[in-house]
Amino acid sequence: MNHFYKPSGRFGPLAIPLSLIAGALVAVILAYLYSYAVYYIPFVYLNFFLTLGLGLLVGGATGIGGMLGKSRSGLLGALGGVVTGVFAVYFSWVVYVHIVFEGDVWVFEPAPLFDAVLRIAEEGVWQIRSIRPTGIALYIVWTIEALIIVGGAGFLGAGMAMQPFCEACGRWVDDEKKIRPLSALRNPGALKRQLEAGDMSQLRELTAGQADQIHSVVQFKACPDCSQFRLISVQAVSVKKDNKGKIETSSKDVAQDYVLSNAEYTRLMNDLEEAARSSPAG
Ligand SMILES: [Zn+2]
Repeated sequence: MNHFYKPSGRFGPLAIPLSLIAGALVAVILAYLYSYAVYYIPFVYLNFFLTLGLGLLVGGATGIGGMLGKSRSGLLGALGGVVTGVFAVYFSWVVYVHIVFEGDVWVFEPAPLFDAVLRIAEEGVWQIRSIRPTGIALYIVWTIEALIIVGGAGFLGAGMAMQPFCEACGRWVDDEKKIRPLSALRNPGALKRQLEAGDMSQLRELTAGQADQIHSVVQFKACPDCSQFRLISVQAVSVKKDNKGKIETSSKDVAQDYVLSNAEYTRLMNDLEEAARSSPAG
């Protein structure tokens, strides 16, 4: 009976319109701000994060629209993110052309917009040190930029549709509790395989951990309407101290959305809560 959650692939009638409307709305607002920001901020490194941020926020809005429409289709989520991501790229060009040509020009149609972009590419718009890229070099940069936005949006759109959903109640599952810090997993790489085989011994042997050392986190999720659909996710957290003594943590999902029976879920939660309360070993 134990297994990992798999989205059903179904979606409600409003999933497509809601995700496209939400994504397009956020795309218009953020692409406008984005074009001004990348034009006036001369730091390529910072621009990369703005580009990625635009893609993820547009994908996030598309994903929220999809979740409101109860979409459990990763494919639909990815497609929605790609469509609104392309829309964001297109609209950012409309705004960019408006800025570069310093007038009241708003070019919305594809053919004249493309001509304007070709003219920008001939002359170049920005420079790093004394190099002012034009032509091919700019096209490569713009292609990478567009791929980051569209890819980021598609990735997040898909990810949100694949969150656990209780098919019996027709609603998304809530996060119930996170238990941490627990001791480090003995063999994190094997956990997924073990759980697939119904073997929970690695989780049962966890004791209290320490937040400033390598540890693990177990997250409990449940449908709030029925008491029939319950899942856990497990993260392995590694901790690094830099030379100033500042702690940096990075966490990795080692098992995601493992479906448990009520009895197993409650028992594991009680055991781990008790373990986390006891004083750390060592
Ligand atoms: Zn339910």
